[in-house]
Amino acid sequence: KAKEDGRNGFKFYTEDMSFEVMKRVILENKIREAILNEDFIVYYQPQYNGLTNKLMGMEALVRWKNPQSNELIPPDEFIPIAQDAGFIVEIDRIVMKKAIKDFAFLLKQGFDIKTLSLNLAMKQLKSDDFISLLFETIEAYNCNPNSIELEVTEGAIMEDPLSSIEKLQRISNYGVKLSVDDFGTGYSSLAYLKKLPINKLKIDRAFIKDLPFDEEDVAISKSVIALAKSLKLEVIAEGVETKEQKDFLVKNDCLNIQGYYYSKPIPFKELEELLNSLK
Ligand code: C2E
Ligand code: MG
Ligand code: MG
Ligand code: MG
Repeated sequence: KAKEDGRNGFKFYTEDMSFEVMKRVILENKIREAILNEDFIVYYQPQYNGLTNKLMGMEALVRWKNPQSNELIPPDEFIPIAQDAGFIVEIDRIVMKKAIKDFAFLLKQGFDIKTLSLNLAMKQLKSDDFISLLFETIEAYNCNPNSIELEVTEGAIMEDPLSSIEKLQRISNYGVKLSVDDFGTGYSSLAYLKKLPINKLKIDRAFIKDLPFDEEDVAISKSVIALAKSLKLEVIAEGVETKEQKDFLVKNDCLNIQGYYYSKPIPFKELEELLNSLK
């Protein structure tokens, strides 16, 4: 509760404002400032075909660059706050523009990369502005919509299934691909897989971590692969760190592999070097 100072009417939130709340307010202000300065860097994690070892695509993953310390702050430390405070749409707009620009630049140099994946926050699905800006950016850089993929979580879809269907349909009609990120970790009915214009399931790394030794994870990952196949969806595994995991997935028909086994998320310059070394 605010305490009033009789003399000038200022409110001091002292003893009742917890340290946690204060920290959060400070962080929110810093994120606001970072958005104005576009202090965000996009890292890219390559995705490979585990059978041919060919680089197929890349996922854009945002980092917040603190201009004072040059320290990179991982998304888990600011995305949830940005999401609550309503800033996430702004951040994802910055990421989307940078990533499509970088992607177009690589294609122009002749590198053969099939897809660019972007993460889409729940709030964005509600924003018509975002969808128009996505289309405009794709056109501005002359990209093929088919080469752009949006990763949506089950949570984002289930928060407002009816409006999600409409938005996702618009995106899909335009030609942009849709994948379900962290598949298997959200609460959702499998019915939406049939109703929504989804192209790909992304098996969450929680089910990959203990492959091929954990019996339950073996059962779950095989089931997701089978589900994808019977629904005619593509499937990719994320968080693949070991050769054993990769071999297990490839043997079981999940050819698309993303994870430290091939590469961590890397800055654009390093991605360019990597692509050049593969030429
Ligand atoms: P995600 O989309 O599921 O991304 C995969 C996360 O797993 C990334 O963490 C990546 O660095 C990490 N990862 C990839 N391979 C491995 C592996 O082999 N082992 C382990 N231990 N980890 C691996 P990151 O970059 O910290 O991103 C965390 C989450 O933040 C993302 O999860 C995504 O939900 C969110 N995020 C990242 N960038 C954006 C963005 O631009 N917009 C939105 N809305 N969310 C984003
Ligand atoms: Mg993702
Ligand atoms: Mg994921
Ligand atoms: Mg995640």
